[in-house]
Amino acid sequence: MRFEVTILGNGSASPVVGRYQTAHVLNVREQFFLVDCGEGTQERLMRAGVSPLQIRAVFVSHIHGDHVYGLLPLVSSMGFMGRKSPLPIFGPAGVGRLIDFFVNDFGQPVDFPLEFTAVDTSNGGLVYENKSMEVHSVPLRHRVPTTGYVFREKQDGVGTVPRSYAFLSDTTASGRAALLAKGVDLMYHEATFSDADRHLAARTGHSTALGAAKIALKAEAGKLIIGHFSARYKDVSVLEAEARTVFEQSYIAEQGRVFSLR
Ligand SMILES: [Zn+2]
Ligand SMILES: [Zn+2]
Repeated sequence: MRFEVTILGNGSASPVVGRYQTAHVLNVREQFFLVDCGEGTQERLMRAGVSPLQIRAVFVSHIHGDHVYGLLPLVSSMGFMGRKSPLPIFGPAGVGRLIDFFVNDFGQPVDFPLEFTAVDTSNGGLVYENKSMEVHSVPLRHRVPTTGYVFREKQDGVGTVPRSYAFLSDTTASGRAALLAKGVDLMYHEATFSDADRHLAARTGHSTALGAAKIALKAEAGKLIIGHFSARYKDVSVLEAEARTVFEQSYIAEQGRVFSLR
């Protein structure tokens, strides 16, 4: 049964031709979860062959546009497509205010419930659970309240090894986040800048590729995906090379790439 992450976008705030903003889909045993929803996400979903109607829940890291600008058009499309089932959405409180604005001021935009749950961005905790997985929040350090998420499969039977995935974006490198994501099989950590531009990372509340790799190492992650690249890097393979000096199993979040866990 599948446990895989499909990268939809790997960009940050400034637009770059061909580079979409942060979003990806997590497939846990044919249950689809959308993680962040930058501009253009619904087009990326179409390319990935995932229908908006398949999305069970949406997890948003923070209110910055490159993580939420795609949410309202996607939710509108779900309405056009006849969605009736509620859509759970998780994120910091500001995301709830965006949804309230949409529901209250857009003239009955959709006729299915948007069930928002505010995530505590100061303390980690369980935010979602179903019979096959649970999702815990991870407080991050950024310019606005921000949360990461750790998705852990539940044990179901003798001999099976539960798989896990952590999403940590946007943030300065955080030892606490590494601790909360300890032992995950797959970690997505933002790597907006290279080490040469670390002063920019420090100023903007972001990480470098080197910093992301150090967190993956500290967390003893199995594999690292780096993404959320600054528009200043036309060739992001330099960031991959930089991460690999510390954590060999580092990979670029190439758009459309699927990372599968066995
Ligand atoms: Zn961002
Ligand atoms: Zn941000």
